This record gives sequence, structure tokens and C-alpha cells, in this order.
Amino acid sequence: MTRLIEHRIGGKTLGDATTYGDVHDPATGEVTAQVVFADAATVDLAVTAAAEALPEWRATSLPRRARVLFAFRELVAAHRDDLARAITAEHGKTLDDARGEVDRGLEVVEFACGLGHLLKGEYSESVGPGIDSYSIRQPVGVVVGITPFNFPAMVPLWMFPVALACGNTFVLKPSEKDPTTATLLADLLAEAGLPSGAFNVVHGDRDTVTALLDHPDVGAVSFVGSTPVARAVHERATRAGKRAQALGGAKNHAIVLPDADLDLAADAIVSAAYGSAGERCMAVSVVVAVGDVGDALVEALSTRIADLRVGPGLDDVDMGPLITAEHRDRVRGYIDAGEAAGASLVADGRALEVDGNGFFVGPTLFDHVQPTQTIYTDEIFGPVLSVVRTDTLQAAIDLVNANPYGNGTAIFTGDGGAARAFQETIEVGMVGINVPIPVPLAFYSFGGWKQSLFGDLHVYGPDAVRFNTRTKVVTARWPQTQQRGIDLGFTRDA
Ligand code: NAD
Repeated sequence: MTRLIEHRIGGKTLGDATTYGDVHDPATGEVTAQVVFADAATVDLAVTAAAEALPEWRATSLPRRARVLFAFRELVAAHRDDLARAITAEHGKTLDDARGEVDRGLEVVEFACGLGHLLKGEYSESVGPGIDSYSIRQPVGVVVGITPFNFPAMVPLWMFPVALACGNTFVLKPSEKDPTTATLLADLLAEAGLPSGAFNVVHGDRDTVTALLDHPDVGAVSFVGSTPVARAVHERATRAGKRAQALGGAKNHAIVLPDADLDLAADAIVSAAYGSAGERCMAVSVVVAVGDVGDALVEALSTRIADLRVGPGLDDVDMGPLITAEHRDRVRGYIDAGEAAGASLVADGRALEVDGNGFFVGPTLFDHVQPTQTIYTDEIFGPVLSVVRTDTLQAAIDLVNANPYGNGTAIFTGDGGAARAFQETIEVGMVGINVPIPVPLAFYSFGGWKQSLFGDLHVYGPDAVRFNTRTKVVTARWPQTQQRGIDLGFTRDA
């Protein structure tokens, strides 16, 4: 019988549904499970469970909330391999990559364990005669997280540890393509001692998301996914008066200057372009070769690409399959289009053959790509790297700044002045200098510019504390002491 992946609502497992989705093993193409989709009534159950759990959880003392998260940290670390295997089984990425994803998520849990420090308010003494003023941070209420398929553990872990540490309760709607990991995380939170209802998981697709966005008891929405959906989610949530942050897609450029360490640059770019089969929002998908570095760089890239091993993520390989058959066909379609448009195809991933019916496309490299071609303009989200050539660093910077996305970027150079000019003028949220995937650590915040993020605040780190709390300013006077004739031993200014 096919395994059923069910909701986690109010501490219970719920499997009733009229709509279901198939979950595949992308390495074999087989359907391995079915996931239940939540309708509006089930969404209401989850949001109501979160709303009912709110008074108790927000009144739980800060050290106790931190202790639950600390216990959760220990459980995630102990189950690192189970989580990684669940990720590989449904997403397809290599086991090492899946373990790395759990580790990066754990860093946010660790950050959230010490959140008391960032929840401190401000205090001003004597803003008037015997009057003090202070600010406090309070939870927003029920926070919803809607997450993409490409990091089924890490992206949810970007969101809920900080939301919970701030005293909110949470409803997670993970990707329907790889939903098991979210339910494992819910089970570990329950084991860590989180009260029932403080964390819930509902599965589903667009209709489930719409029901969440329209629910009156939801206070804030964190979304990560593609740009068109991010824009729509942000608009719908904010129109309903909710706080929203929606992280979107990307087209990340790596600029290589002629003075760069070519081996370092080529190693870094190959791993950033083809790791996780290019299904990362921080993947490098464009290389801008400046001046005369192009030929040597393309040679260095193609030598390394030839050595990449592609196969099922549980095997000893560098790259696994894509998430679905439709996505594989879409990526192949972009390779067809790039070739037809006249870009020079240096490595052709369509030629790859892997036994079975998995959703594989091999590493693909195009040279002499023009910024008008669809392989340049569109987020392909696959193992397809485009090399664009420019004469100057300024032309490379202009190219990046003209791009509608602004998630991540990197420069490879031995020149500090060039790197500084790049850092100062580039219109991108996360910048690497001789570092290909500049994902900030948990104590900074993650987010892009332009169409890579809708909303004002980035995810995790200090911005997440701002997103997950509302500030209240109190102005206080205690005149009773004098009225009651208690002698303070000193006189207050009138
Ligand atoms: P997606 O936009 O298709 O789906 C994201 C989430 O939204 C899923 O939970 C999905 O069920 C839901 N959804 C899908 N269509 C919807 C609709 N029409 N209305 C409401 N909800 C909808 O994204 P994906 O394919 O799962 O993930 C890949 C995308 O996510 C890429 O574009 C990638 O760049 C982006 N991404 C961005 C970041 C970032 O930090 N900026 C991180 C990871 C992934």
C-alpha cells in the first residue's frame, strides 16, 4: 500500500482529504507516497489550533521557550541522518548535500536558543517628571510559513525557530513535492516539549496557500519560492492587512576578472552551478568573464564538468536528479532554446544516460551567451550555466544591475580595489568576494533585492526578530507613592 503523508494539527495526525498529490523518488521516477491536501476547513483547524495554543506559549517564560528549542536542537542533530535520507528520497540531492542542508538549518535553531538577548527592549528614564518610557517586543500571533521544494528542511528551519522563540505559534505549508521532512520536524518539536498546537503542518498546493492567506487569524506570512508566486502571495497577504515577507527566484552572476585565481574560481563556480543540480536559489547560473579571461575559464570549467558524477543521491555522486519529470523537460527545453538561439554549447546535459526512469539532466555549459537569450533571461533552476563575456568590470556590474533579480552574486579577483568597487555598487542583497554562494550565517539575515524579495525584512537573523514581533512603547508614571505620603527620602522635580 502507498505510504500516506498526513497533516500535523494540534498534536494530532490528520489524514482525511478529498485531494491528494503524488510524491516521487526523482532518482527512479517511482511514486513513493501520497500526500493529503488541506482544504479551507482543514486549514481552519490548523490556524485555530495555533491560535488556541498562543496564550500559553507566549506566556511561557523566555528561558523555557529557549529550553524547548535547545531540546529540539539536540533531537535534530541526533536525527540528522534520518532527515537527510528523507530529503534525498524525495528531493533527489546527494546525501552529503542533504546533511549540509540540515546543518545550515540547525544553525538557525542555535541562534534562536539565544534569542532572549535580541528580545530586550529599550528604556528611557525621566522622559517627564517621574515618568519613564520603554519599548517591549511582543509576538505577532499566528505565523504561517510557505516553503519551496528545494530545501525541505533548511527553509522551514529559517522560519519557525525564530518565530517560536519570539512567542508566536506557527503553521507550516511545505512543498507538496517533498513533504515528509516537514512532518519529521513537527514530530521532533513535539518530542522536544513544544505544547500541542504551537506548531502545525498542513500539506497542499495553491488552494491550501490561498486558504491560509485569507484566514483572519493569521498575523504574518513568510514565503519562499518562485518570483511570480512570491509577488502574488505578498500582494494577497498585505491586502488582507497581514505582515508579509516573500522571497523569490534568482539569476545569480559570478564575475571573474583576469587577475583571479582561476583554479579557485573554476572549482567554486562548478560546485555553485551544479551542486544540487542547480536547484538552489543561490546557485550561480551566469558567469561573466571579463577581458581576456574567457577562453581559459571556459576550458577550466569544462575540464571539471567532465569529471562530475551524476546519479541517484544515495550513491557516491556529485549531482542527483531534478525534482520532477516536468521540470526535467522544462530544463531540456531551455537547452534546446539556447542552442537554437546560437549560444555555443560546450557541455550538453541532454546527452546524459542514467539507468531507470529518474529525472536526470547532466551538467550543461553555454559560452558566448547573449543577454537577450532565454537561457540568460529566465531562472532555469537546473544544471545549466551560461558564460557571458564583457570587456570591462563596469560592463559586468551594469549587466548584473540591469537584471531584475538581485539575490546573490560573487566576484573572483586578486584586486582589493576592484572587489571594493563591486561591493559598493552592485545592486544585490548577498555578495561574495572569492566566495561563490554567499549565504549569510544565522546571526545575519538572508534576503535578496529587487524581484528576489517582496517585503521589507529578510529572513532569519536579527531581521527575523523584527518580522516576528510587534513593538509596543510604554510611558509610565507612578504618582501613588507621593499621594500615599510615602517618604522617598528625596524630592522629584515637579
Ligand atoms: P514555487 O513558487 O512553485 O512554490 C513555493 C511554494 O508555494 C510551495 O509550497 C507551493 O506549494 C506553493 N505554491 C505554488 N504555486 C502557488 C500558487 N500559484 N499560489 C500559491 N502558492 C503556490 O517554488 P518551488 O518550485 O517550490 O521552488 C523553487 C523556487 O523557489 C525557485 O524560483 C527558487 O529560486 C526559489 N527559492 C528562493 C529562495 C530565496 O531565498 N530567495 C530560496 C529557495 C528557493
